[in-house]
Amino acid sequence: MSTYPDLHLYINGEWRKTARDLPVINPATEEEIGRLPHAEKSDLDDALEAAEAGFRVWSQTPPVERASVLVNAAALMRKRQEEIATAITQEHGKPITQARLEVIRGCEFFEWDAGEATRTYGRVIPSGPGVRHVVHHQPIGVVAAFSPWNFPMSQPSRKVAGAIAAGCSVILKASEETPAGALHIARALHDAGLPPGVLNLVFGEPAEISEHLIKQDPVRLVAFTGSTAVGRHLTMLAAQHMTPVLMELGGHAPVIVCEDTDVETAAISGAIRKMRNAGQVCTSPTRFFVHESIFEQYADAFVSRAAETIVGNGFEPNVEMGPLANDRRVAALTELVDDARDQGAEVRTGGSRLGDKGYFFEPTVLVNVPDSARVMQEEPFGPLAMINPVASLDEAIEKANSVPYGLAAYGFTNRADYVDRMIEGIEAGNVSINTLEASLPETPFGGVKHSGYGREGGTEGLHNYMITKNVSHSLTIV
Ligand code: NAD
Repeated sequence: MSTYPDLHLYINGEWRKTARDLPVINPATEEEIGRLPHAEKSDLDDALEAAEAGFRVWSQTPPVERASVLVNAAALMRKRQEEIATAITQEHGKPITQARLEVIRGCEFFEWDAGEATRTYGRVIPSGPGVRHVVHHQPIGVVAAFSPWNFPMSQPSRKVAGAIAAGCSVILKASEETPAGALHIARALHDAGLPPGVLNLVFGEPAEISEHLIKQDPVRLVAFTGSTAVGRHLTMLAAQHMTPVLMELGGHAPVIVCEDTDVETAAISGAIRKMRNAGQVCTSPTRFFVHESIFEQYADAFVSRAAETIVGNGFEPNVEMGPLANDRRVAALTELVDDARDQGAEVRTGGSRLGDKGYFFEPTVLVNVPDSARVMQEEPFGPLAMINPVASLDEAIEKANSVPYGLAAYGFTNRADYVDRMIEGIEAGNVSINTLEASLPETPFGGVKHSGYGREGGTEGLHNYMITKNVSHSLTIV
C-alpha cells in the first residue's frame, strides 16, 4: 500500500505548509494518517491575490488550450488511479473498489468539461439592417468553492473542472476530513501545466474561511456542496454582496416501486445501491414506497440482501461497505433509529454501531415507519433505508413530495402511464426510472426546493460559471 500523501496548501502554483496543522483520521482504525496545514487569513489573502492574477491570464487563454490542460490532468489522474484510490480509502473508509471508480468518475468530469470548454457558444439575434445583437458567454471571475467529504476526489473534480473549463480561477476549500482527493487534483493540474493562481487549494476552519472569502470583491461566485443548513448560511453571506451561488445540498430520495415491477430484482438492486458509500450520498435511495400488493415480498428480499452486506475495512477483499466517514454520523444515525423505533417503526435488520474500533454501523432497514419519525423528514446520510407500503401511485407521489428536499427520485415500473405520472408529478431535479443512477458527467445535476439550485454537468454545467453579455452593434451612429 502506498503511503498517504504529505498534505499542503496550494497557492499561486506553490505548495505551502503553515504554522498550525491538525490530524487526519482513518475512520476504519481511528488512527492518525496525516497532518493537514490550516490556512491563516494571510494565506487566504495570498490565494485571493493569486486567483485574481490567475483569472486575468486564464480567461484570456483560448478554450482549446484550457481543454488540453484539463484532458492532460485527467490522463495523469487515470495513471495515478491506484495511488489516489488508496488515499481515499485511507481517509474516507470506502472500499478500494469504490474508490477506484470514484477516481475514474472524477476524471470523466474533467474530460466532459474539457469538451464543453470549446462549446460555450453565443448567438446572433436577428435585427434590422446595419445592426447586430450578439450574445457572448464570458467566465464570471474568481470562484470560491467548497466541497464535502463523501466523495473526496469526484466532488471537488466537479467544481474545479467546471470552473476552470469556463475560464474562471478558483479558491477551493475542500474537506479537512478527506483532503487527499483535492490535493491530487491540484497536483495533476500543476503537472499538466495549469498557470499559477488558476487553482488555489486551502484548508482550515470552514466558517472562518467562507466568511473571509465570500465578502471579498474579487469573488464572483460561491459554489458549495454539503448540507442545506450550511448552504443556507453561505447563501445569506453571499447575498450581502449580491454574489451569485451554486448550491448542491441535501436530498432524501424517494423510490417508488410499482406493482408491475420485477420485485426481487428491484429489491436487491435497491439494497446494494443503498449501502454504496455507506449511504453517504446526497442521491442515496432512502424512502422506499412500495405498492401494498408486493410490499412483503419486496421488504423480505431487500432486508435479506442488506443483511448480507459485507462490512469492514475498505482494503479487505470483498468488503462492500466501509465505516461511516466520521463519528458524527454514527451518533446521528443512532439517534434517528432510536427515534423511529420509539415511534413504532420495525427494525428489520441492523440499527446499531458495529464493534468498538472505527466508525462502523450496521446496514439498517426500517419498515412501517410512521411519517412522524424524524428520519422520514431528515436526511439520514448513512446506510439506513425506510420501506413503507402505499395503496396507489398517487399516494406514493404525494409522500415522495412531502419533504422539503428535491434532489433525486427513483421509480420502478414498466408501465408508460406510470412513468409519465412520475415525471410530471415528482418534485426533484433528477428522476430515474428502473435505475438508481442519478447523474453522469453528461447529464445536468442539481436540486429543487431545499436541495439547492444551479446545475453541474451536462451542457448546462458551465453556464453557472459564466455571465451572459449582450452586445448591440450599429454600423452607423444612430
Ligand atoms: P456540516 O453541515 O457541518 O458540513 C457539511 C460540509 O460543509 C462539510 O464539508 C463542512 O466542511 C462544510 N462546512 C461546514 N460549515 C461550513 C462553513 N461555515 N463554511 C464553509 N463550509 C462549511 O455537516 P457534516 O456533519 O459534515 O455532514 C452532515 C450533513 O451534511 C449530512 O447529513 C448531509 O446532509 C450533508 N452533506 C451533504 C453532502 C452532499 O453531497 N450534498 C455531502 C456531505 C455532507
